[in-house]
Order: sequence, then C-alpha cells, then structure tokens
Amino acid sequence: MSVNERWLPIAGYEGIYEVSARGGVRSLDRIGPTGRKVPGRTLRPTVNASGYPAVVLYRDGAARKLYVHRIVLSAFVGPCPEGMEALHGPSGQGDPALSNLRWGTHAENVADTIADGNHNQARKTRCIRNHLLVDPNLTTSAARTGRRGCLACNRAQGRARSRGEQIDRAEADQLYAEIMKGTPAC
Ligand SMILES: [Zn+2]
Repeated sequence: MSVNERWLPIAGYEGIYEVSARGGVRSLDRIGPTGRKVPGRTLRPTVNASGYPAVVLYRDGAARKLYVHRIVLSAFVGPCPEGMEALHGPSGQGDPALSNLRWGTHAENVADTIADGNHNQARKTRCIRNHLLVDPNLTTSAARTGRRGCLACNRAQGRARSRGEQIDRAEADQLYAEIMKGTPAC
C-alpha cells in the first residue's frame, strides 16, 4: 500500500480505524488493556459469496462486520443518501476503490450490472438444456424483463404440463431445432 495513499477516519471508529481511497482499512496504534502499545496494522478483508470484501471492526468490545465499499463511500463521499445503494463500476464488486464506487439508485445499479455483463440473467447464454439463448429462441418476456428465457424449453414445458408430465428433453431439443431452423449456428 502506497505511503501517499489518502486515509480518512471511519465514522463511528474515529481514532481507531482509517480507510483509504483505494479501499484499504487499517487500525491505528492504540494502548492495549495491559497498558502496552499495540501497533496499528492493515486489515485483511474477507470476501463474501457475492464477491464483496468486508472487514470486522471492534469498538468497546463489540464487533461489527462492514462492507469495505460502504466504508470507503461513507468516508470519502458521505453517508448513504436515503433510498440509495452502493454502485460498483467496471472493475466489479471485488474492487472497493473510491474510483470504482458511487451512491446511486437500485434501478441504476441493475442497469449498471447488465451493461457490465455481470448480471446473472444477462450473462446467461445457454439454458440448462444447452440451448442457445439468442433470438429467435427467447421468450417474449425477455425483452421486457431483461431475463433470458429459453423459448424451446418454455414450449416443451407447456406441452408436457398439458399432458400432466415432466418436461421431455427430446421434445425440447426438437422444438429448439425447429425454432432455430435457418438461424446460423454460433
Ligand atoms: Zn432450453
């Protein structure tokens, strides 16, 4: 971590911890319970299942787990405005640097992630039966919701349901072939 890095106190933990614009979190030197000086150190964040780094901060014997991106935004931009959430830029949720962050609305957040190609549904290019999720094999709800649904599986599901059966793989594949007829394979 660069010595030129800009550090600011963390709200509620002033004099105990600091955060940097690059997303570093460090504890400051303090006097321990035995009167001995405890040197400050850089905290090593843990990363949750969604890829967001978090750190555990201690004060008055209480531990609190906080997302690094929220600490950075709160310190350098200000507290989260009512109804807003933390938005990550192109370098993704694993990068809590100030340059990759801003407060914004949930709608902006969804639009951002789809644009970045990080959205679960938008990124999905094949259905669970390995049919390509491209035009014309897309359900009509796809354009409206941004979720890509497999038209072949959707139709096969409908047919199977009308017979009181589970979806039939061969039927889904056949429907897929019919839908995609004349469409160049890619
Ligand atoms: Zn399918």
